[in-house]
Amino acid sequence: MSTQLTNRALPVDRKPMTFVESLYLWNILKGMGVTLSHFFRKKVTYNFPEQKRPFSKVFRGLHVLNRDEEGRENCTACGLCAVACPAEAITMEAAERLPGEEHLYREEKYAAKYEINMLRCIFCGLCEEACPKDAIYLSETFAPANYGRKGFIYPKEELLIPHPINEKEAYDKAVGDRKIKNNKTN
Ligand code: SF4
Ligand code: SF4
Repeated sequence: MSTQLTNRALPVDRKPMTFVESLYLWNILKGMGVTLSHFFRKKVTYNFPEQKRPFSKVFRGLHVLNRDEEGRENCTACGLCAVACPAEAITMEAAERLPGEEHLYREEKYAAKYEINMLRCIFCGLCEEACPKDAIYLSETFAPANYGRKGFIYPKEELLIPHPINEKEAYDKAVGDRKIKNNKTN
């Protein structure tokens, strides 16, 4: 006799079915009853993407590189986010701001290249916490699916938030609830 791991095992009923049982009528009716009972319950599914489920207040999604109210990039390429990242998902190259570029970059140094590998990222949010310039945050957007690995390496151009003056509508959409949250905390 084989050893049982639990005492929950039930012996299989191998009795031949009667004629009435072989029609499965009672089982079909039982199944229909289960289906009908769910018709009148609250739906637990959402018609994504038209309908989105409410996120938790601490949901962490796709990263956004932030700009200030004049549209200048906040990031000063200090590298603290990359150092804090436990998944080594962030790479960047720093560059010096040139005279005449003050309207583009807030600090004297900026990230000429900034990449996040979303296949490595574990959405822990440590990059956001490490940043001293409010230059990166995790938004309420999912990282979209892709067919190729390269599509998950997000360059700076894809991470950067739209310009708050030149692309106001897109900027407001990208900021979303964060604006409301920030206003509440200010
Ligand atoms: S969320 Fe975490 S894992 Fe992802 S890039 Fe930021 S620090 Fe790295
Ligand atoms: S995002 Fe923040 S922490 Fe990362 S390099 Fe830019 S300024 Fe530094």
